Amino acid sequence: MYDLTTNKEWLFAELLDELKLFEKYYGGEPVNVHICDENVLRVMVTIGEEGALYDTAVPCGDPLEIKRLYKRFVKHSLYKALSARYGVCLPWGSLTGIRPTKLAYAYMAGGGSVNGIVEYLTSAFGVSDKKARLISRIIAVRGDISEYSDNYANLYVHVPFCDGRCNYCSFPSADINARGAGELVDEYVDVLCREIIKTKKLINESGKKLLSVYVGGGTPSVLKVGQMERLLDAVGVRGIEFTFEAGRADSVTKEKLDAMKAGGVNRVCINPQTLNDKTLAIIGRRHTAEQFCHAYELARERDFVINTDIIAGLSGENFSDFKRTADGIYALLPQNVTVHTLSRKRASLLASGNTDCEDIAEMMEYAYERFYDYEPYYLYRQKYMTGNLENIGFCRDGYVCVNNVTVMEELVPVYACGAGSISKRTGGVISRYAMPKDIKLYIEQADERMAAKETFFKEGAASTSRL
Ligand code: SF4
Repeated sequence: MYDLTTNKEWLFAELLDELKLFEKYYGGEPVNVHICDENVLRVMVTIGEEGALYDTAVPCGDPLEIKRLYKRFVKHSLYKALSARYGVCLPWGSLTGIRPTKLAYAYMAGGGSVNGIVEYLTSAFGVSDKKARLISRIIAVRGDISEYSDNYANLYVHVPFCDGRCNYCSFPSADINARGAGELVDEYVDVLCREIIKTKKLINESGKKLLSVYVGGGTPSVLKVGQMERLLDAVGVRGIEFTFEAGRADSVTKEKLDAMKAGGVNRVCINPQTLNDKTLAIIGRRHTAEQFCHAYELARERDFVINTDIIAGLSGENFSDFKRTADGIYALLPQNVTVHTLSRKRASLLASGNTDCEDIAEMMEYAYERFYDYEPYYLYRQKYMTGNLENIGFCRDGYVCVNNVTVMEELVPVYACGAGSISKRTGGVISRYAMPKDIKLYIEQADERMAAKETFFKEGAASTSRL
């Protein structure tokens, strides 16, 4: 429980997030954030009996921008007070958002240079020098991304089924072995294909150019070959980045990979999460490390670009376990590797999680060392990540995943299909349209929801043209 009060209620949730960053050090003392004077922005932060005063000049300009800067200053003041009180600086400073790279782009859009990113992030948010350099490196690796705009579209297709359930998973996904779920797959694919075809028509009519396709889940490779072929026929594109998630190795067969290849897929994600069989069993995956390596080889023989996800901080794993996984993945030389930090929320639910922050920080350090000849190109954070760290995507030279970058930076609209999928309008105010998460409901409401999605995008186009 957190004893937090403020005289600006609208800031309470954000301030609470800031306080939660210090969860490990917080001892229940009352924390009050009092904004004394809005004309000379002055904030008094009191922790227990001690108070500290912070002030700055009130920014001028666009009211929305002022509000944003105002909020940042108040949050950063609380961060500084907590940091001084507990004698710790956090790697990401006062940042609680999921996209630190966006701040760097906004800074550059305001006239800042790539060389100034480190100074900006360290001084304005208390980000550590190391993490600020990481962001600066990512921006440099991506190069000029200004060509990606609202004139493009990304197509996302969601397959919310898995063969079993991993114990750390927080995605909405149905176990095909559960009663009722397995029988729904075929009907789901039919409805999904209808939605894909309508959505492609919508994209064509908008005049946008399709930039990438991403079939995610769930485990899309759990589909049978025939179902997969129907889905890929509905997508029906060639020659652009086309990713298909084949997350669990036990769902990968030669026939399915051949169907993907024939259907235009050129990038697959095969995600072991760990190469330790004992951990795979603990986390509820029904395959071994050897099965993963076999699936990986099958995909390699077919010349797919391969991404592999691994996780730092899985149940029962120590540094040596993680090192074995990272070394094993490195030896395979995939074009993309994504290293996730287990979110604290999930970690706390696991029976025997090794969630010690220092261990996980060491694991992440090792990932940066191990993949030294890859480039970091993609980074995002989640709320309440263990050790206040990050998820990081590495790529071999020339293999930046365009979908990951443009979705993360919200540069290109996402036309999403399937239960629980979220479409996104960009190019101004970001807005979203969500399909029902419940699979049965999605099937039942598909037609009316597709019509609503069409209106959502058309309204966006109309309001953009009025700007
Ligand atoms: S395979 Fe992926 S989506 Fe399915 S249960 Fe495991 S983590 Fe969740």
